[in-house]
Amino acid sequence: MSKKALITGLTGQDGSYLAELLLVKGYQVFGLVRRSSTSNLERITHLSGDIQIVAGDLLDQSSLMDVIAESQPDEIYNLASQSYVPLSWTQPALTAEYTALGVSRLLESIRRCKPDAKFYQASSSEVFGQPDESPQTERTAFRPRNPYGVAKAYAHWMSVNYRQKYKLYTSCGITYTHESPRRGIEFVFRKITHAAAQIKLGLANELKLGNLEARRDWCYAKDAVYAMWLMLQQDQPNDYIIASGETHSVKELVECAFNCVSLNWQDYVSVDPAFYRPDEPVQLVGCIDKIKTDIGWQPQHSFEQMVELMVDYDLKKLSNSVI
Ligand code: GDP
Repeated sequence: MSKKALITGLTGQDGSYLAELLLVKGYQVFGLVRRSSTSNLERITHLSGDIQIVAGDLLDQSSLMDVIAESQPDEIYNLASQSYVPLSWTQPALTAEYTALGVSRLLESIRRCKPDAKFYQASSSEVFGQPDESPQTERTAFRPRNPYGVAKAYAHWMSVNYRQKYKLYTSCGITYTHESPRRGIEFVFRKITHAAAQIKLGLANELKLGNLEARRDWCYAKDAVYAMWLMLQQDQPNDYIIASGETHSVKELVECAFNCVSLNWQDYVSVDPAFYRPDEPVQLVGCIDKIKTDIGWQPQHSFEQMVELMVDYDLKKLSNSVI
């Protein structure tokens, strides 16, 4: 009998890659999708025949209980959240509803309807906020500095508490920023690779960015979702940092992306204070020793390979749409 997995956040970057991975591994995949008047299924249209879409909402406890009771998943991956940090300042309560309380509802539903399911919670490096050590490990104190990070910290600790109190199998992956051609254009990595491709094709002639000195630990999304799956294949639940283990600046990213299209970035890039963050986290970089040692995971794509494959993707996509 094939294993069954339920994914929340199926229509996002990670959800779509995870669904692909699980299908290859022979799973029956259920995807929790919110009813919406506009379709947001573009990242999964190629999978639509293979996945069972189930309607439910992290804001609605009974819908989650119904979905879990009916689908009886062996593994549940909670990848849904309101994940855009600036929006978490303008909609802090809604961010908490989805990203924090949504996880409470999900854990309660698992406890009542499928207590032997394995649960993966997508924690985020934003829980560290302004960390007092670098690189961060699984033992670094959480000091979130925005409503999204606060909500993720709550969700993380609720997952740990349900593991301790109810003996549920819950594992939290603390992912750092991870990128792919499916990343939204509002995030700086894709914004830059997309703009480099646009400029190369003559579709744009400038790129406005915020803080060029900001540094991030960027990992490839396909590598990250492989780590999520691998975590749930272990006998015991545990929490792990999922990261590349190195940082690069926005400036290095711009240089690398423009090199890929043989252009000089200084001719096109300008700094616009509108894109500056009020509270920039410092030194966010993950230590991946624990996940490497315990379960043998490490990233398969370098920073340069990620930039190159994303620029190539955007060049192809934009060239096709021009024709
Ligand atoms: P996240 O902060 O990790 O969720 O991801 P982003 O991709 O939105 O931001 C990554 C970093 O790039 C942050 O430190 C931003 O301050 C910096 N950054 C610099 N210019 C920009 C920009 O134009 N847009 C965004 N989104 N971030 C920028």
